[in-house]
Amino acid sequence: MSSAPDRPTNVNLNQLVSQLARLVEISVKLNSTLDPDQVLKYIMESAAELLGCEAVSILLYDEKRDMLMFTSASGSDSHELAQIPVPIEGSLAGKIFRENKPLITNNVNRDPRHYALVGEKVNFQPRSLLGVPMCIQGGCTGVLEALNKRDGQFGPEDVQVLSVIASQAAVAIHNARLVQALQRAYEELSRIDKIKSDFIAIASHELRTPLGVILGYATFLKEEAQGELSEHAEMVLSSAMRLRGLVEAMTNMNLLHMGSVELKISPVVIQNVVKMAIAEILPTAQAKSQQILLDVPGQPLRVTADPEKLALVFTNLLNNAVRFTQEGGTVTVHASADQDDVVVEVNDNGIGIPSWELKNIFKEFYQVEPHMTRRQGGMGLGLAIARSLVELHGGELSAESAGQDQGSTFRVRLRRLIDDA
Ligand code: ADP
Repeated sequence: MSSAPDRPTNVNLNQLVSQLARLVEISVKLNSTLDPDQVLKYIMESAAELLGCEAVSILLYDEKRDMLMFTSASGSDSHELAQIPVPIEGSLAGKIFRENKPLITNNVNRDPRHYALVGEKVNFQPRSLLGVPMCIQGGCTGVLEALNKRDGQFGPEDVQVLSVIASQAAVAIHNARLVQALQRAYEELSRIDKIKSDFIAIASHELRTPLGVILGYATFLKEEAQGELSEHAEMVLSSAMRLRGLVEAMTNMNLLHMGSVELKISPVVIQNVVKMAIAEILPTAQAKSQQILLDVPGQPLRVTADPEKLALVFTNLLNNAVRFTQEGGTVTVHASADQDDVVVEVNDNGIGIPSWELKNIFKEFYQVEPHMTRRQGGMGLGLAIARSLVELHGGELSAESAGQDQGSTFRVRLRRLIDDA
């Protein structure tokens, strides 16, 4: 039988205060620990110390088995214990869990509700036991048990102390497990992301060699052949060039994702880079009877940039302007100085962009017209690549359009290099 609780007059106030201080300390520590093993270890050490008992066990409810499982235990081999499921019916822990109420028994061996198999298997004889439910938001998640009080018997003060630890423990275990699950998910995602990046890198590399051969022979055939054959060679050539563009877009996006794009920075005259990009797009524009106009000041506008990467930005913008503008349309490139910046605008009088789509078009693989119905090719990577590259240069890329059939303007803003020359 348990002894009557001490009357308040007998309570050693100093002891009570230090016990409370210890409980606060435990709460702080549990709130700041996110490693599940450390959380469990700390719960057991604290409970054993505050209750003066030989062993402490944490049993958590396993929904799949409908059993309580030893998640951690001191005083016995916890690995062996972890293999012994404890039934909800026919065990003291099960009763505490089911009824969501603390339980004291100071003569475990004589208690008919005791599940003796555990003690037998791990060779630990429980004499006295105090168990309290571990709850989160009213739901019971497990049981915290203290075993074999060294000095006397478990009493109501012990129930209070263990209940405070159990409520902190339930939350701490829950949080630590959530963090662990998140970490695992993150690691798995990183692993899959690496597989994807490696796949793109290998596939692009392997595609480049045969593509080079096709481009070489198609160019040769186009020059040599005549009539219909030359037209066929031209079609092979333009398809192979489109394919090369797609492979390059995939490679560039992959490199940007991995953070492995290295800029070869040097002073660059914007007019030269823009002209390079126009020269590349001009044949496509001419094929659609479009005009590309250039409106730039006579004075060179200088920036510090990687000329090739910057040319890629303007090629992508011009490529879009030409693709999304009807036959006979006009594309204009303006460049000007704006205080400490250089601003380059690529403007077209094409199909325009609805206002609600302006923020989406820079997302990877995003296309205003659904992929299956769209008439223009592309993978939805051009603008994402262009924006990432501009941002790598410390600049900004934005879009404007007055709406459908009102044309579009893409604006690149870069820091101007003001030199003494
Ligand atoms: P894609 O290569 O598939 O066109 P981008 O990232 O270059 O991908 O562009 C994303 C989407 O933005 C395009 O599919 C198109 O819907 C829209 N867009 C881009 N540039 C223009 C433009 N100049 N005029 C109209 N729509 C455009």
